[in-house]
Amino acid sequence: MKESHLNFLCDVNALSALLVGSSDLDSFLQKIVDLVADHMDAEVCSIYFYDEHKNDLYLKVTHGLNQEALNSVRLNTDEGLVGKAFSSRHFLLEDKASSNPAYKGFSNLNEDRYEAFLAVPIVRGEETAGVIVVQRQENYSFDSEDRLTLQATASQLASAIENARLLVSLSNDNTESIKPPHIQECGKVLAAQVASDGFAYEKSLLLDKTLTTWEDVNYTPVNQLEKEDFELALVNTQQQLEELEFHLEEKLPEMAAMIFGAHLMMLKDPEFTGAMSKLVDSGVAPSIAIKKVCQKYIEIFQNSKSPYIREKTADVKDLGRRLLGNLQGKVYEPTTDCAHKVVFAHEVFPSDLIKLASENVAGVVCETGGITSHVSILARSLKIPMVILQEPVLHLLPKTSMVLLDTTVGNVYINPQQEIVDTFLEGQKLKSQAASYEVKAETFTCCEEKVNLLANINLLSDLTHACNLQAEGIGLYRTEFPFIIRSYFPDELEQLKIYEHLMQKMPDKIVTIRTLDIGGDKLLNHMPELLDEENPAMGLRSIRFSLRYLDIFKTQVRAILRACPDHRGLRIMFPMISSLEELIQAKAIIRECQEELKDEGHAFHQDPEIGIMVEVPSIIPIIDDLAEESDFFCVGTNDFIQFLLAVDRVNDRVAKYFVPHHPAVLRSLKVITDSALRNNVNVSICGEMAHEKLYVPYLLGLGVRSLSVDSRFIPEMQQSIQKMKLEECKELVNKVNKEIKINRIQELLEAFPN
Ligand code: PEP
Ligand code: MG
Repeated sequence: MKESHLNFLCDVNALSALLVGSSDLDSFLQKIVDLVADHMDAEVCSIYFYDEHKNDLYLKVTHGLNQEALNSVRLNTDEGLVGKAFSSRHFLLEDKASSNPAYKGFSNLNEDRYEAFLAVPIVRGEETAGVIVVQRQENYSFDSEDRLTLQATASQLASAIENARLLVSLSNDNTESIKPPHIQECGKVLAAQVASDGFAYEKSLLLDKTLTTWEDVNYTPVNQLEKEDFELALVNTQQQLEELEFHLEEKLPEMAAMIFGAHLMMLKDPEFTGAMSKLVDSGVAPSIAIKKVCQKYIEIFQNSKSPYIREKTADVKDLGRRLLGNLQGKVYEPTTDCAHKVVFAHEVFPSDLIKLASENVAGVVCETGGITSHVSILARSLKIPMVILQEPVLHLLPKTSMVLLDTTVGNVYINPQQEIVDTFLEGQKLKSQAASYEVKAETFTCCEEKVNLLANINLLSDLTHACNLQAEGIGLYRTEFPFIIRSYFPDELEQLKIYEHLMQKMPDKIVTIRTLDIGGDKLLNHMPELLDEENPAMGLRSIRFSLRYLDIFKTQVRAILRACPDHRGLRIMFPMISSLEELIQAKAIIRECQEELKDEGHAFHQDPEIGIMVEVPSIIPIIDDLAEESDFFCVGTNDFIQFLLAVDRVNDRVAKYFVPHHPAVLRSLKVITDSALRNNVNVSICGEMAHEKLYVPYLLGLGVRSLSVDSRFIPEMQQSIQKMKLEECKELVNKVNKEIKINRIQELLEAFPN
């Protein structure tokens, strides 16, 4: 992206951020249209808002057109070019607007001169908030670069504008004289980061800071506590942690090990509790010793370069608080009575969240924390909606209020107006209606062709969801998760338990276990050499890591082979294969492990299917050779696109270049699937592309019959696949592969009925 575009989008972003909490909506929107017009060299930039009450569109703000016409120029939702862009949810680019039959002119707008026209819908999720339009004089047409810029702007503005539009439409049934209300009049809206999805509209409960926050926990020595008291506190803490680990083990096995297992390890660490003990021996009061040592660790962790290590500070605080509580005979944890309430807290630790979950908390709002922290991961597994506020404002809030937690964008509405509540409740109703669709055990197209919908699994807890939603097996189990969340490598038996659980839950179904895909965006904080790589996505990653650390690789392979020797659907998959040699070497390791297990007298799987992830473009020219050595291919489109198009998949600044319908991607997929079909090798897709409505018909048309997705997508996918005809999917492939322009391909894919 050009630097000027980047700066421009940063400005738009900064402006959007300003809107939250601002009372002057009109001037915000005016700044936006001025900025866009200036940046895009457009004489006109206007925004049309959708009015829910009247079900039409009206001119909300403009740069370049007649200001007197604001709010009075109205269009039906499919009227004129603006209406067309709105109802189709698709951009519209015209060199000469008036020659389009849908054109509708307004004499009071003074827009006749501006024939070059570009409109982009402002879309947020299922909602279309309005349309943003730029215009120039004839002969100064817009091009695809302009279109991409306006689309990027619209998507940045979408949530800010959607909120603004909602507020305006609620306060206004007479748009002739719109005066937007102050946000405060409709209740306060707090911006937040989403840590765990969900929705809640309940009473709030503000947690007592002195009971939950490490910094506020009292550690002043009140009476003469001795070394024995400290030692007793250690024993009690250990006992509590073991109990917590045991209870959580049932529900969320990895979480139990990750959180309480890690606390237990710290507790036994001579550097940690040993240092406290030494201080106590030298005459320091036990509570001060605990506080001092914890504080030292907190500072070390907080200053670490690695985000994973930084997020460990919460665990030290959690453990420190528990130790102090046991020393003082106090319980430092959230007060009870949080059932069906939205809890507000400065900080929430994993053990707090478990307590809150056991009491059926409705949602959690905290002032501090990270969305990748243990507590956020735990909230997601426990299905508790949770957000982290962008500003520490809890002290300003009323003691109790009604709170609406919207995790689609990350807004916390305090005492929202009834209309806002109704809008959200209606949305929830629609969602639960969709969720009530009863998934069938098998999926067929309308021409009776079977399509396998498999699940991608990260945590073992995802399995329940996959089983409930009738996943026909596991197309991808990302084994690195248990490694990432531990501070050591899980041994053979520990891994064996995990794989056993996985296969027992899916008897006789496909279970694809991918060997470690460490590196890239999945780093281990106990492998510092990986943290130091300049370019980890292309570094010592995945199969390269396994082939370098053969002992780790063999431990994993042995655990997989031993887990369920008779399972009929076991598949072992190697990630990031880039050459035939790697595959041959990795397969040899499997054979070596089988020999070893035989010699040792262990039962093991004799004949797992062995396949590869297609993620590195280098394998396209040698795909037939790899097919000879593989039982299956599984295309990881996330990495495949990243490497084929040279676009970092986690870098927002280049997100617009991550285009799955780039002809190079689609044609490469054809080469891969053709080879698989020719060589009788099963082929599936397991990247994000596999669940996207736009691409499923194309993938089926190529001959793919297995799609592995996050199981929440299964119901919707099944419903849409049931309407598809394979002949039409194949025709789509033919048409698409004749095109070279991304825009045109997008149009063809979008035009496919589903
Ligand atoms: C992929 O790259 O598409 C894939 C599924 O693997 P991951 O997202 O785990 O890298
Ligand atoms: Mg990948």
